[in-house]
Amino acid sequence: MAAQETVDHKYVYDFSEGNKELKELLGGKGANLAEMTNLGLPVPPGFTITTEACQAYLATGREPDGLAGQIEAHLESLERAMGKRLGDPQDPLLVSVRSGAKFSMPGMMETVLNVGLNDQSVEGLAAQAGNNERFAWDSYRRLIQMFGKTVCEVPSEEFEHALDEAKHAKGTHNDLDLDADDLRGLVDAYKKIFLKHTGREFPQQPREQLDLAIRAVFESWNAERAVLYRRQERIPAELGTAVNVVTMVFGNLGPDSGTGVAFTRDPASGAQGIYGDYLANAQGEDVVAGIRNTVPLQELEQLDKASYDELLGIMARLEEHYKDLCDIEFTIERGKLWMLQTRVGKRTAAAAFVIAGQLVDEGLIDLDEALHRVNGAQLAQLMFPRFQLDHEFQPVATGIGASPGAASGTVVFTSARAVELAAEGKSVILVRRETNPDDLNGMIAAKGILTSRGGKTSHAAVVARGMGKTCVSGADEIEVNVPAKRFTVAGQTVAEGDVVSIDGTTGKVYLGEVPVMPSEVVQYFEGSLDPEHVDNALVRAVHRIMTHADGKRRLAVRTNADTGADAARARRFGAEGIGLCRTEHMFLGDRRELVERLILARAPGEREAALAALLPLQRADFEEIFREMDGLPVTVRLIDPPLHEFLPPLEQLAVNVAVAQERGEDVAKEEALLAAVRRMHEENPMLGLRGVRLGLVIPGLFAMQVRAIAEAAVSCARGGGAAKPEIMVPLVGAVQELETVRAEAEKIIAEVVGDSGVEVLIGTMIEVPRAALTAGQIAEAAEFFSFGTNDLTQMGWGFSRDDVEGAFFWRYLELGIFGISPFESIDRDGVGRLVRIAAEEGRAARPGLKLGVCGEHGGDPDSVHFFHEVGLDYVSCSPFRVPVARLEAGRAVVETGGSDSR
Ligand code: PEP
Ligand code: MG
Repeated sequence: MAAQETVDHKYVYDFSEGNKELKELLGGKGANLAEMTNLGLPVPPGFTITTEACQAYLATGREPDGLAGQIEAHLESLERAMGKRLGDPQDPLLVSVRSGAKFSMPGMMETVLNVGLNDQSVEGLAAQAGNNERFAWDSYRRLIQMFGKTVCEVPSEEFEHALDEAKHAKGTHNDLDLDADDLRGLVDAYKKIFLKHTGREFPQQPREQLDLAIRAVFESWNAERAVLYRRQERIPAELGTAVNVVTMVFGNLGPDSGTGVAFTRDPASGAQGIYGDYLANAQGEDVVAGIRNTVPLQELEQLDKASYDELLGIMARLEEHYKDLCDIEFTIERGKLWMLQTRVGKRTAAAAFVIAGQLVDEGLIDLDEALHRVNGAQLAQLMFPRFQLDHEFQPVATGIGASPGAASGTVVFTSARAVELAAEGKSVILVRRETNPDDLNGMIAAKGILTSRGGKTSHAAVVARGMGKTCVSGADEIEVNVPAKRFTVAGQTVAEGDVVSIDGTTGKVYLGEVPVMPSEVVQYFEGSLDPEHVDNALVRAVHRIMTHADGKRRLAVRTNADTGADAARARRFGAEGIGLCRTEHMFLGDRRELVERLILARAPGEREAALAALLPLQRADFEEIFREMDGLPVTVRLIDPPLHEFLPPLEQLAVNVAVAQERGEDVAKEEALLAAVRRMHEENPMLGLRGVRLGLVIPGLFAMQVRAIAEAAVSCARGGGAAKPEIMVPLVGAVQELETVRAEAEKIIAEVVGDSGVEVLIGTMIEVPRAALTAGQIAEAAEFFSFGTNDLTQMGWGFSRDDVEGAFFWRYLELGIFGISPFESIDRDGVGRLVRIAAEEGRAARPGLKLGVCGEHGGDPDSVHFFHEVGLDYVSCSPFRVPVARLEAGRAVVETGGSDSR
């Protein structure tokens, strides 16, 4: 039964049988060749062997049953259509064998051209090409070279060497000076190389050539570079490649032939126009190899007006059909245009917005589709500061743009030096061969990170992205010498103290300080560029798409802010409230000492005095924020400091006391402090006396904050303003904790609020797994939940959030255990499940329970889609990510097919 199924399974599709939706099965190239064929465009006839055939071959090491017969049948029908036979001695059909996976993997897999040539058919080809012997022998030598390298792993340098020798003997550097006899001699030399390496003659049977080439393309899916590329681009390993067998057309038959590439719009800026390159009398591989210089596509108009006009017509047709920027490969064979490939073209973030806007104007797509075509990662890229556009600096090296942004600073080579100079207020760029967890402090201190080794998932890249810090990795032109504190590049030496600039988007490295400017998109969000009056296609497109996203989205977007300035900025960026005001941030600086006294208080009255001093300060903090938010909801979280952040460091204190004792000084006070700090010392402060636990242990602490919040709200209301405070209790794991805090808070609120009309909600964070699992109980005492996905991830996975990302996540990413850090993007299956359970059980217990998220995930594009799916009411994120969250919340509606609008 199974065998019968295999025999019947369809593994080969004629181009006329496929279409652009079948990328999974036919690969991108095959699906689009089929689409163009069905549009009636001039595509050389051919067929596609499916990715399923490749998967079967890779799993078993042999072609699946039925494949050989299907190839035979399609080849016969191709031969009938062309009126030629593969490898016919008089008039041979020649084919190319090309890879093509679902996702484009440029140059990673193999291609063999001119399959079907042998010692006889080469003569037939010459005759058919108007007695062009040179062309025929050149094609034959290319086949032996490509086939040798791809199918039989003959080192290509040997062929290159033989070619160089032939040119040398002729006294030339140019391939085109070799005549037919030279090339005939070269074919002999190539055959000898082939025999030497493989122990067999170059195969003369055309069908054997074809079968071996197909097999080699299958196998190239697992070539080392392809595997690395897939890992980098997160392309699943099990997809496999399709194989396209396409009738050869020749761009190297003389001056009336040629080959080129074209884009229907500028993939860098999105501007409309004709962008492309053309090379006369050449094959595609010559363009790639850069053997001769191409000319701008516009020049084709002079060379071959008919083909040029036809090409422009086809480009317009393709755009209209695909409703998007297309990139195209074509060949002209003696005045006849052939389309060899098209696909929806890759583009920069700016071009993505501009093109989406233009396509709406042109009536090709609607605004929903425009929203679908852009994403938050692109918007985030457009918000990073950038180097001024007209700067005259030349890059000295180019690495991988590992974490976007633009940074200039003094070069340092060690983490310690980075910390030292940063403490002096200097901008530093940490330069390392590669970074490791010991560099973490330096990375935090640095403005940017530059490494000479490592890719997009290297330690430097992952950690820098996590921190939102500019990073260029793998700039291998740079020789780093850490002991000598210098690096060399392009013949120049850069020592510690010199200034460099790095562009984390393009990967470019400059010597000196390249001037930086805020991006236009940020200027627009800040309100300093008016989209209606500015001649800037990008700003107009961003404005239009953001407006649409806002109209579509169901999720509200709030911000995490704990100062008036952050709150104001976030409002300009579109925040509709504060989802998390971390009050512990208000206890740093001069107030630290008060908190220390509060926590360590021994003497009677000491704690009360500290609380009394803190109350007016806190009241003023909240007044400022309520004023800025002007009637929008403000979630104030009661203090949640990991204790160690507020106490003097134990080791330092112990050393100071010991030294003072040694000197015979009076250290009674310090000793008491040391004893208190020792008593409070915790091995795992993040799992210790924090949040609600601290509030329940230190009398009066939460009460003081609740009073300050209520008083600030009342004062705001009495002054004619509006305040909507929501008091949030952190780190709750059991409903009893919340009930205890609530009972005390309600009393204070009732006393302060009186008849002022101010309403204060009380809710909790859901950030301890137990809270998520008992959400039904907790909802009884909470008017809202806000998911603290940072702690929920920490405690769900058992990952110390301060340590693990630098320590070993790079290895987990390398091994594919993670596709992305679970602190960056929500782990839907595990931590996400906790969120889902809590949302469902919380709402079941208290219909109308307000649900939000305020962990870092609130500004992560993929996570925003998840929170939309789960049905939260809002996400809250740092001010800079508010626009990203707005956009993604709109996209989430469009992508789930909803027509929600608010
Ligand atoms: C969280 O845990 O997700 C959260 C928002 O709280 P914090 O990051 O302050 O612990
Ligand atoms: Mg937390």
